[in-house]
Amino acid sequence: MNNSAPEIGSPARTKAILTRYRLVAKKSLGQNFLSDLNILRNIVNAAEVTEDDNVIEIGPGIGALTEQIAKGARKVVAFEIDENLLPVLDETLADYDNIKIINQDILKANLAEVIHEEFEPGHPVKLVANLPYYITTPILMGVLQSGVAFDEIVVMMQKEVADRLVAEPGTKAYGSLSVVMQYKAHVAVAFEVPRTAFIPQPNVDSAIIRLTPREPLPVKPYEEEALFKFVKGCFIHRRKTLWNNLQGLFGKQPEVRERLESVLETVGVSRQLRPERLTLINFIELTNAFHNEGLM
Ligand code: SAM
Repeated sequence: MNNSAPEIGSPARTKAILTRYRLVAKKSLGQNFLSDLNILRNIVNAAEVTEDDNVIEIGPGIGALTEQIAKGARKVVAFEIDENLLPVLDETLADYDNIKIINQDILKANLAEVIHEEFEPGHPVKLVANLPYYITTPILMGVLQSGVAFDEIVVMMQKEVADRLVAEPGTKAYGSLSVVMQYKAHVAVAFEVPRTAFIPQPNVDSAIIRLTPREPLPVKPYEEEALFKFVKGCFIHRRKTLWNNLQGLFGKQPEVRERLESVLETVGVSRQLRPERLTLINFIELTNAFHNEGLM
């Protein structure tokens, strides 16, 4: 591709690429191509990508974001599941020698191994992506549990999911996803993106989320998985009181109720609260106290 061609993320070039390869965006793979150069550049800026950075991308599509990252980064490794896009990416990104495309389902990838094989050590590793929305949560959970210490994660997702990630206790959007993500990382919305910035247009607006390593918590759960399971269990009936949810989780026998009451008293949490009022620290303390009480 010659250097005078407009960049991939311009609407004209996006349309030309789709026509030339007779591509029909696959809804089942969450294919909505971002075609707004300012937004693409702002995503890369939000991750503060520099020439020293190695970057993982998920779902390069036709290469619009990949191109903008490659311009500023040391190396980009991008996972794309759709093999029909490989010849397209070969051509659209032909000018760049710092990009590697891996044709693999990100949910099956071993990120730590790929990073070890593809990136020279001693440089920051970042994750920058316009995520396939149908698997936003499993991707984020997988990334946060991969054991890779990303220096920065900047990802686009459906606005409604972004709202849930950053929600605070007592708000409507606050739920198990908020608690689990905020346990893992410091989460903030960088900026919002209207649906009109995509080809084809999705039915929802989007937002860019920035995840950075969080400060250590004053209290740790005895086991992460137990905390996550407990948090999910507490939100099964979010309109009911904590007391009702706990009886649903642990049982209603008088002996169990007595132990539940004793734990709530020790931790200092009222049984009348709705689960959405509990803070991350409340959830951790309750998990540990129920464990000590032999209930989990
Ligand atoms: N990065 C491009 C952009 O910003 O225009 C495309 C983003 S599009 C929202 C999501 C991309 O993720 C698509 O290219 C899709 O094929 C790819 N994808 C979907 N599921 C995937 C998976 N499980 N693993 C890797 N890539 C996937």
